[in-house]
Amino acid sequence: MNLLRSGTVAITLSAFFSFCVVSAAHAQTSILGFTPLSSARQSQIETKFKSIPSPEEERRQHRIFTAEPHVAGSKRNNELADYIAIEWRKQGLDEVVIRRYDVYGTNPKSASLEMIAPVRYQATLREAALDSDSDSNNPAISGAWLGMSISGEVTAPVIYAHSGNPEDYALLRKNGISVKGKIALVRYSNPYSYRGFKALTAQREGATAMLVYSDPQEDGYKKGTVVPDGPWGPEYHIQRGAITYDFMVPGDPQTPGWASVPGANRIPIEDAVSAPKIMALPLSWHDAKPFLENMDGPVAPKDWQGGLPFEYHLGGDRVKAHLKIEMDNGLQPYYVVEGRIRGSELPDEWVVMGNHRDAWVFGGVDPSSGTASMMELTRALGELKKQGIRPRRTLVVCSWDGEEVGLTGSTEWGEQFTDELRQKAVAYINVDSSASGPDFTGQAVASLAPMLEETTRSLNDPSGRTLYDAWKASVERKKKEGNASAQFNRSGAANQSLTDTRIGSGSDHTVFLNFIGMPVLGFEFDGDYGVYHSAYDDFLWMNHFGDPGYKYHMLMSQLWGVTALRLANADLLPFDFASYATNIRQFVDELAKGKDLNQLDLNPIRKEIDSFEAAGKVMNESLNRKLASGQIDPKLASSLNHGMMQVERNWLNPDGIPGRPWFKHILYGARFTYAHLELPGLTEAVEKQDWPTAKQQAEILEHALEKNAHLLNELSQRLKGQPFSASQLLN
Ligand SMILES: [Zn+2]
Repeated sequence: MNLLRSGTVAITLSAFFSFCVVSAAHAQTSILGFTPLSSARQSQIETKFKSIPSPEEERRQHRIFTAEPHVAGSKRNNELADYIAIEWRKQGLDEVVIRRYDVYGTNPKSASLEMIAPVRYQATLREAALDSDSDSNNPAISGAWLGMSISGEVTAPVIYAHSGNPEDYALLRKNGISVKGKIALVRYSNPYSYRGFKALTAQREGATAMLVYSDPQEDGYKKGTVVPDGPWGPEYHIQRGAITYDFMVPGDPQTPGWASVPGANRIPIEDAVSAPKIMALPLSWHDAKPFLENMDGPVAPKDWQGGLPFEYHLGGDRVKAHLKIEMDNGLQPYYVVEGRIRGSELPDEWVVMGNHRDAWVFGGVDPSSGTASMMELTRALGELKKQGIRPRRTLVVCSWDGEEVGLTGSTEWGEQFTDELRQKAVAYINVDSSASGPDFTGQAVASLAPMLEETTRSLNDPSGRTLYDAWKASVERKKKEGNASAQFNRSGAANQSLTDTRIGSGSDHTVFLNFIGMPVLGFEFDGDYGVYHSAYDDFLWMNHFGDPGYKYHMLMSQLWGVTALRLANADLLPFDFASYATNIRQFVDELAKGKDLNQLDLNPIRKEIDSFEAAGKVMNESLNRKLASGQIDPKLASSLNHGMMQVERNWLNPDGIPGRPWFKHILYGARFTYAHLELPGLTEAVEKQDWPTAKQQAEILEHALEKNAHLLNELSQRLKGQPFSASQLLN
């Protein structure tokens, strides 16, 4: 999975402009967070760093990771963990360790699907080999399966339920069709809704099983030329995936909120809220077609029609199928590889980075493009270290396992080290897939959007522009094409940010943002990509379509490293809290827009946003003045930096959002579909018209804003050399 699959791409504004005005007046040549002197040194380090990654090495590493299927828990994926550890030690990383977590296993033993009426059809559940791609012949390629499906056997009628969302079943009911005891055939949808949400919906509707297929309209021939002649999904491609209800709680379902270290306490699987209670199987359109074309019942509505050359019907009793799925649910180890480059001056302040290693099959894009970029990132960091250049703060880098199953490796690791991360972590930078094309998307919490955009100005895009200019052009093009959300069009003029600050779930940043309260960033280069989670997402696909020259892989290594090195070397951390305040105001405006709030008073929140914004502006000015002076006492810097690190932690509510205690962040959450959800506790209460809860959630937000405004004011006073009370910073 990846960040971008967490919902529609939403581009928002930030207060970047106001910050530029402030900083331009002082140190035009300085990098955000650096004194003029350390800016010059940082630029030299970055130039050295950027010269190390090469497209040839990116390609060589990519081939190693895509040579064999390497699903979570498999022998090959575990061998790759060892390979990474060995490489990292050779590259010069410090303290490389492999951490083991024993988790609930979900591997396919067998699956079969047969249509028994009105005609017989045995589903292939396999992907066809291609003459032009020897990898597609690999006998280790799995058949069709979905992680966390239950085992079972059923014979029942099949009905067509469109995207499998609640409104789809409502329409079926209106047509007199109940799905109770039947098999629901649904399609992957555009815009994306997470297949686990489709499974939960089918389960709630009383369906006995869910089949989910890839309609050519979504990612196949209706979009463009298919594999092997183009990037889109061919007739037999199967989108595997997990259906874990990780929108309730991610990670091992039997250890919600604590780490699955060997011997850990485990709850029964029946009690696990993130474990589905329904059988589910993915299909290629080749296998879905016989079911769809034999259905009777009413003609499906226009927007339910798909790309296959016949009229889709809702179904009745005519099509019957026999489905049997056997899973192996034994406990199995997942392995997280962890390495670091110890900081030379501030070893107990950490910049954390990660990419997941496990893939549904070869993982050409998802995730092995990102893994290749990570290996070049670590090689370059190791080279710097060998030249005597260590970052000031510690860089921690992790290869996650089982991301595809339930964000499992990162969640367990994060749960294991929560306390330490809350003390030490500056930020987390996630790269899932690094490249399926040339269009850059950068996500960040709004306090880091200005530093991200500044960083992209210092990097060269293969198109010959700066990465910033290429990013801007692609955002503008998407806006014209209507791909960006409506929020974008509300932009003013010069002050628009390119950064996507609406962060849902769907990749390994989740535990760090939503459970631990760390600022997060995530990067990806995107393009036409119709083979997601299929066997055709492989080395050949990347070399023909995604990134044939491996230049975007290389640029990703450079961007990832430069961003990390800026966070690791900054004199004063480059947070912009005025920008954060502006972004939160937008969230509140959107929540209030066009809704009857039933006397829910948002004015106290708006007042606190104003205070937080004002405090952020003063802080920006004070920070810039201090940096421009070039004179910063290390003790002062340390207390300011730790104060700034506390801001994100202060957005956590220990009780979590109502009904989902694991998700503690009050600004960011995800809907069950994975779509981003801002002000999650408050928004969901308003949508349910649960006014007592809405009032309570509004007060929680108000108090967090107040606390952070107060914290920033304290820090600004400290910058001016005025006394402060330490106790107010540490609660
Ligand atoms: Zn992924």
